[in-house]
Order: sequence, then C-alpha cells, then structure tokens
Amino acid sequence: MRHENNAFPADTTLINLLALDEKEMGRLVQRFGWPRYRTGQILRWLYQRRAKDIHQMTDLSQGERTSLASITTISRATNCRVFSSIDHTRKLVLTLNDGLTVETVMIPDEGRLTLCVSTQVGCTLDCGFCLTGTMGLKRNLKPHEIMEQVLTAQDRLDSGERITSLVFMGMGEPLANMEALSEAIRRLTNKPWGLGWSPRRITVSTAGLAARLKDIAPFGVNVAISLNATTDNQRASLMPAVNGIAPLKTLLAACRRYPLSPTRRLTFEYVLLAGVNDRSDDARRLIKLVRGIACKINLIPFNEFPGNPYRRPSEYDISVFQSIVRQAGIDVFVRKSRGRDVLGACGQLGNLSPEYAERALTQIEARC
Ligand code: SF4
Repeated sequence: MRHENNAFPADTTLINLLALDEKEMGRLVQRFGWPRYRTGQILRWLYQRRAKDIHQMTDLSQGERTSLASITTISRATNCRVFSSIDHTRKLVLTLNDGLTVETVMIPDEGRLTLCVSTQVGCTLDCGFCLTGTMGLKRNLKPHEIMEQVLTAQDRLDSGERITSLVFMGMGEPLANMEALSEAIRRLTNKPWGLGWSPRRITVSTAGLAARLKDIAPFGVNVAISLNATTDNQRASLMPAVNGIAPLKTLLAACRRYPLSPTRRLTFEYVLLAGVNDRSDDARRLIKLVRGIACKINLIPFNEFPGNPYRRPSEYDISVFQSIVRQAGIDVFVRKSRGRDVLGACGQLGNLSPEYAERALTQIEARC
C-alpha cells in the first residue's frame, strides 16, 4: 500500500501512524479487514501509552502486529536537544524529517507545568519585538508534528511531574495554521483514545487574526490576544503585518463578538516596551479599548535580546501601569521573568545561531 501524503519518514514509503487522523486510521483498519474497535486500540497506543514500536501493541495479535508493521511505522522525532535552566525551565529542540527544527518549552511554576507549543517553523508576521518573526515563515507544522512536541515533553517529565496546561504560544501564529491546530486540539482533548485533556487546560494565543477568531470558539479552549498597543499607529509600528490585516477596531469588534460562556473570559497580552507603550496614557487607552469585554490582561515586561532596539521598562513604570489598569476594575497581572540561562524562549524561539547562543539573554514568558 502506498500512501501519498507527508506522513512518511523521508526515505521510505511506510505510513506514519501518527500522521493519520481517526478517520484515516479507521480506513486503514478496514483495509486489513479488522474489527472497528482496532482503530481505538491503535490510537490509544499512540497517544495514551506513547508507543514507539508497533510490536508494543500487545492487544493486537502477533499476526496483526506483523501485518501492521509491514506497511506502517511510528515515526517519532529522533533528535531532541534539551536546554535546561537552573529554574528547571526546559527548552526542547526537535529535528523534523526535513531537517528543520521546532521548539517547545516546559515551564514549571509553583506546582504547575505549562507546555508552550509551536505551530509553525518561523512566522510570517514579523512583530518588531519577536525574534521568531525575523526568521520568516519556513513552513506550517503538521498535526503530528505539533503532537510530537507534547509526546516528547511527556517522555521527558521528571518523576511526579505532569503537564497542567498547554499554550500555543511557541513559534508561529496558530490561527494561520488552523487545520493542523484543530486536529492537534482534537487529539489532545479526545477522551476515548487521545490525551483526554479538558479544553480549559489549553490556550490558543493569536497576534490578532480577527477573522479567524470565531473558528477557534467551537473547541472551548482559552483564547489570548496579543494586543501590545493602544493606537493603530503604535500597533502598525510594532506589529505591521497583523495590524494591516486587522486594525485595532476590527480586532476588538471580533473580541466583542467572541462567544464566551458566562464563566469564561478572554486574555489580552500586552508586551511592555520602555518609552513606547508603557506610559500612563497608554494604560488609560488600554482600559477604554477593552471596556465591556470579559477579560483579564497579562503585562509582559519586554525581554531584551541582542540586536533588538526595544528595552524593558523599569519596575516602577511597570507597577504604575498595572495600578492604573487595576483601578479601573480590570484583572491585570505581570508575568514573572524566568530562566535567563536557558537558550531561546517565547518571542525568542527559533534562532540557534552561535551569535545568539553566546549572547542570549533569554527569559521564559508568554510571547504572543
Ligand atoms: S509575536 Fe507571534 S505572531 Fe508575532 S512574529 Fe512572533 S511568533 Fe509571529
């Protein structure tokens, strides 16, 4: 059997089982003439037990395993470099079949462990404060390449650790790769054979692709919007590509229309840049912009990196900004800085050149 998709390891025609969705797996099982419940059995081995070899699937007969292995394989990432911080933040760099690398970050904090996952290699949007954007877009990740980040992170958990939440805030704009993102969320949340996570443990962060926000609503995940500016001029200079697609008025109108249940709210991310968007006037405009939207605001003091002109505001300026927003009755939090010794982080993922490896002053935080 030949399978004409990119599910294969580069040098063979074997089908990569991880590249099949539930329907495709069902068709494969049907083709073998096996009972339908084999579909769930195989998928459980892949996602719940993280099998790396078909011969581990002991609830299939020896003959079935041999037949399956004759035309399929489980193609997991073979090369994973780990960069560990003294605060136990870990960045995993996975090599894909075509030699490109993708990065995911495990961020522990007070009994919680957040996994920050990438959806693209590079990014097309080129936000001025983000190193990933300087790479340009290499390509979209496929669903199994998104899942690979999760499975590999699970393989590398310390004893007693569990991933408590997942944020799509790694490399790339998740809503620009909607099909793969959707399928990955289905595999993360599927209870019979997937990871069975509640959608509330998952956050999708967008730079502001307003027209696509509604597409994510049916999944019931948390949504974070990277705002970062309070006027179109400011936003056009910080995030020119995305502000060209959806200026502030369009973006905030889409946020107002977003179908939230009474107990849920949106998150606005706001990267604070010294002298650019961190003044009292900015704080007051921010309050007006989000008025009437059920939301909280995360302030992210900028993490400087070599070659970038922006600077991190002083602690005093951060605190004044936060107080102004808080006094308006809005929940507003300042993200903690993490792991200056680990290479690459949110907004800084994707560049492993020796220059950055040597000089990186990276801190782990939410990016978009
Ligand atoms: S901040 Fe997000 S959307 Fe903007 S360039 Fe970086 S990865 Fe892309």
